[in-house]
Amino acid sequence: MSELITRALADATDTKAIAFEPGAVAKTGAVFAELFPGRAAIVVADERTMAIAGKAVEAALREAGVEVRDAYIFPGEPELYAEYENVEIVRDFLATVDAVPVAVGAGTLNDIVKRASGELERPYLVVGTAASMDGYTAFGSSIALDGLKQTLSCPAPTGCVADTEIMAAAPQVMTASGYGDLLGKVPAGADWILADALGVEAVDPNVWRQVQGPLRHSLSRPAELAQGDLDAVADLAEGLLMSGLAMQAYQSSRPASGAEHQFSHLWEMEGHGVDVTPRRLSHGFKVGIGSVAVAALYELILQRDLSTLDVDAAVAAWPDKETLRQRVLDVHTDPQLQEQFVELTLAKWVTPEQLRERLELLKRVWPELVVKLREQLVPAATLQEQLRAVGAPAHPSDIDLDWDRFRQTYERCQMIRSRYTVLDLALETGLLAQLVDELFAPDGFWGRQQH
Ligand SMILES: [Zn+2]
Repeated sequence: MSELITRALADATDTKAIAFEPGAVAKTGAVFAELFPGRAAIVVADERTMAIAGKAVEAALREAGVEVRDAYIFPGEPELYAEYENVEIVRDFLATVDAVPVAVGAGTLNDIVKRASGELERPYLVVGTAASMDGYTAFGSSIALDGLKQTLSCPAPTGCVADTEIMAAAPQVMTASGYGDLLGKVPAGADWILADALGVEAVDPNVWRQVQGPLRHSLSRPAELAQGDLDAVADLAEGLLMSGLAMQAYQSSRPASGAEHQFSHLWEMEGHGVDVTPRRLSHGFKVGIGSVAVAALYELILQRDLSTLDVDAAVAAWPDKETLRQRVLDVHTDPQLQEQFVELTLAKWVTPEQLRERLELLKRVWPELVVKLREQLVPAATLQEQLRAVGAPAHPSDIDLDWDRFRQTYERCQMIRSRYTVLDLALETGLLAQLVDELFAPDGFWGRQQH
């Protein structure tokens, strides 16, 4: 068991117990009996996860004296998708059974059971079968509703079992996905440093340490992860569990999600990769590419001396609300998303006076801020190497992203969340379009890689 996790549990709002070690599945019964004395359990799994862990989970539950109802098992084929229809299926089934659900699976199964349990106002427990994302210990579910991927609110699990032997044996593509999701905490941390320095959102030192403390170590062995090395997978899983717990403690995804997740979220919301076979494009794969994209942008910004920024020019060029609204409508044409994006973009609009104040502050803190950001960030080229070493996509073409669409994401994804990131800094200083041009110029970071 990890000391870091034990300590972080004390700050978590929903999760009360975590069993995290090789062979942890055998402890599911003890964890369950302690959290839910006298309650019956019901496993929700798919055919694959039932075989690799579900049966052992049921045995452990029985051994601890827990009454076990007949499991709900999704077919192995077609691959389960986190769409709302599946939430309804599980919810309606669980409504007829007096038992605490035990989700046995990875991100998709957890998201479905988490939301279904949330709707029933019933606690649940998750047994994670892969180190594939940070959602086991996080609140909220990523679910496709009316074809659009969105985060639906619901509590985190009351208990979590993470058996590192099972996780290490998971398909390699899942471990690579978890690596991509965790890699995102590097630029996400930089975005928080930035928001803190500009007085937009202060860093919470305790929560910061939960994510950033174990991060470098968790990311340090991509090649071993590709080999399914037990110890390396355990480190990755620890980083992911800690990120989920940090989001619980902070009651927001800020500690673990910055601009790199906005790249991923936009592609998810627009359904990119849903039709990619045999496996739908994972969240972590998109976050990994988003992380490279954001790191490359930071590199260009850090080369500039913003302590000499022409604030008058930036304020003069700052759009009014109506101009901004029209810009959102111009680059987001999906009628299902437009309104929401206009609202989120306008939520972070500041008056010219406020912008002037913020940019003057930026000029003053810039020399110190540059040092902090450099310390936090990893070069974009290194992130690409790490992604390739773990077996994850590292270039937009690896995930079938059209080049122009990828390029446009720099501007478009700034509009999809009200959280302050490097994209906002680039926009407010009036540099975004120019920086993107530089990235995609023949000698720019992306221009050199166009093929
Ligand atoms: Zn994520």
